Amino acid sequence: MKTRLIDISVPIRNKMAHWPGDSPPRIRKRSDMETGDSHTVSVVSMGLHAGTHIDSPSHFIRDGKHIDEMPVEATVGPARVVGISDPEAIKPDELKRHRIQRGERILFKTRNSDHCWKAEGFVKDFVYISNEGARYLVGRGVQTIGIDYLSVGSFKKDGAETHRILLKAGIWLIEGLDLSRIRPRKYNLICLPLLFSGAEAAPARAILRLSRP
Ligand SMILES: [Zn+2]
Repeated sequence: MKTRLIDISVPIRNKMAHWPGDSPPRIRKRSDMETGDSHTVSVVSMGLHAGTHIDSPSHFIRDGKHIDEMPVEATVGPARVVGISDPEAIKPDELKRHRIQRGERILFKTRNSDHCWKAEGFVKDFVYISNEGARYLVGRGVQTIGIDYLSVGSFKKDGAETHRILLKAGIWLIEGLDLSRIRPRKYNLICLPLLFSGAEAAPARAILRLSRP
């Protein structure tokens, strides 16, 4: 059996696209061999929602679970990449065609993967999950949802409400994936957030494993 591993995380770097108003990643060298120090040490500051990251319920739900309470099974195991053709939003009509099952981990590949990550700055008109789409996914009983830009919810409309609907149902959200090299089908997902105590989110590295007989 041949196994392929594909990285679907985005690199964390200075000047990367970030949510307006959030603290962007700042990576600097406190000591640097290039300038005569004996060794190199970097310091980073960033919002926890920069790049590829996981949102926990406490991001929008009072008394919701924090990121360090996430069961690792939520983001490690079989997952399905679902292609979305709607250029605006993920809505129930298109979702219905994919026969989503209880407990599934679903990663949505939208036009964001090719459109947004190659842009210079933050892209406001990214494809998001509509409120109705979020309610539909809760009704299907999905375990985990991934999206290929910085938020499951819209920048302009009711993005907060999409978050609330999904997080209140205990669904774990992976945001900031790059699925441009990924074909919709089933994979194995390996994605783990850094273990920040009591935080509402954490940066994560995400890998898809493709098994071919
Ligand atoms: Zn987030």
